[in-house]
Amino acid sequence: MTLELRPNCEYCDKDLPPDAPDARICTYECIFCADCVDTKLSNVCPNCGGGFVSRPIRPATEWRPGLSLAKRPASPKRVHLSYSEDEVARFAARLKDTPPNKR
Ligand SMILES: [Zn+2]
Ligand SMILES: [Zn+2]
Repeated sequence: MTLELRPNCEYCDKDLPPDAPDARICTYECIFCADCVDTKLSNVCPNCGGGFVSRPIRPATEWRPGLSLAKRPASPKRVHLSYSEDEVARFAARLKDTPPNKR
């Protein structure tokens, strides 16, 4: 099992390459940029209702055999939200005041 390292923010479509410091991830690997997580989503994943953390950066250097960005490349498949901005805003408003561990 390896993180897919999806290439873009599902909300604003910003590029989030594997070394992006502002990629945020939920437990289902939904990926959003830090700006959208803060200003649009209120730390509520619009797909699953969970919270986000910073996505770790996969080393470009093969420090251990078989484990590097070249050996386990990022996914090229862009992902886009299937909900409208209005619906996402309502969803976030409903859940944002409940901490992730209580959702
Ligand atoms: Zn974004
Ligand atoms: Zn999610």
